[in-house]
Amino acid sequence: MSPILRPRAGPTRENANQRLKRVTTGNISPTWKRQSRSHATSKGFQNIQNVLCYRNSAIQALLHLPKFVNWVEHAHRHCTSNRSSCIPCAIKYLSLRYWDEPRSQDIDSSMRKLTRCMRRAQGKTMLQYPMTAAYDETEFLNWQWDWRRQQDASEFLLHLLNAMPEQNETVRPIVKALFEFDITQTLKCAYCRAISQQTNPEKILGVNLQNPGPLKRLLRHNVFAPATMTDWRCRVCHQFEATTELVQSLKLATTPEILVVEFRRFNSDGQKDNVHIPFTKWLDLTPYTINRTPTKYRLMAVVHHSGTLDEGHYVTVARGPRGNWQRMNDQVVTDATVTEALRPSNDFTPYLLFYTKMASGKAITS
Ligand SMILES: [Zn+2]
Ligand SMILES: [Zn+2]
Repeated sequence: MSPILRPRAGPTRENANQRLKRVTTGNISPTWKRQSRSHATSKGFQNIQNVLCYRNSAIQALLHLPKFVNWVEHAHRHCTSNRSSCIPCAIKYLSLRYWDEPRSQDIDSSMRKLTRCMRRAQGKTMLQYPMTAAYDETEFLNWQWDWRRQQDASEFLLHLLNAMPEQNETVRPIVKALFEFDITQTLKCAYCRAISQQTNPEKILGVNLQNPGPLKRLLRHNVFAPATMTDWRCRVCHQFEATTELVQSLKLATTPEILVVEFRRFNSDGQKDNVHIPFTKWLDLTPYTINRTPTKYRLMAVVHHSGTLDEGHYVTVARGPRGNWQRMNDQVVTDATVTEALRPSNDFTPYLLFYTKMASGKAITS
């Protein structure tokens, strides 16, 4: 008796939006390409009057993401904007100088040009992210509406990622594919059983730290756990609060090439939670994707924070082109290890984690 041959469960189907993202960035190499990069080392950035560490740490992380660097350096070379008004171009010049050997002062002037370029983008993003530009002469940036507060590396990064497509429409699909993910919220009414769905794009995956534990557990319990919403009105039966409840579940409709995770350490009063959150250099988001699409990431950089929201300091520990880890504390670059990236030995705590997506089917090894 010949057994019926059933097709084996193949890879789960990729949805159209995810495929579009993959195709959009498909020709950008995920690895360090340039021959010279194999010897290149990470470099420091000036920190004028010690207020720019939030900017330095975020830019350091970006410059250690080969897929992002390859995009700004190569795919963007035919840009028709000039470097004073196009953020990707300004980052391209900075990156080219940064990875040159030896370090030259051009890095500092390229950083100033990028800063100026971002300032120029402010007008367009002002409504969304109200900001005050201060200290023209030293080219400080002030991204906060309350500028007594310490500048925040996460808000700076988000501003940068939002400003790029706002400034130049043609980069929107790439920035979207590189950094954006879509979260689908499914609400089920416990009264009439109607299901409604809504999908929203995000660029930073915020993780609340209550009931602290490993990142993996926080993703399951604090980010993607089903939750009961009692203050929502069902759109179908219009029942409200006391009479019904909506059960919410969140899934990733699409995932980004570069995943930025933020540990939400600051509460609304500006208090910082320094709790230790164990995480690893691999992150598997498969369980949280719609269709359980295999989605694995590798850690490339971590921004650490020490101090308080008002008076703090940021550094970046990142993996360089030679596979070695280094710690960038403004001007000072020192050798580091992945262990230090995961759990700093001093009073710093991991704040922003930068992961890059691995090619599907690639096994997770050391
Ligand atoms: Zn450009
Ligand atoms: Zn209902």
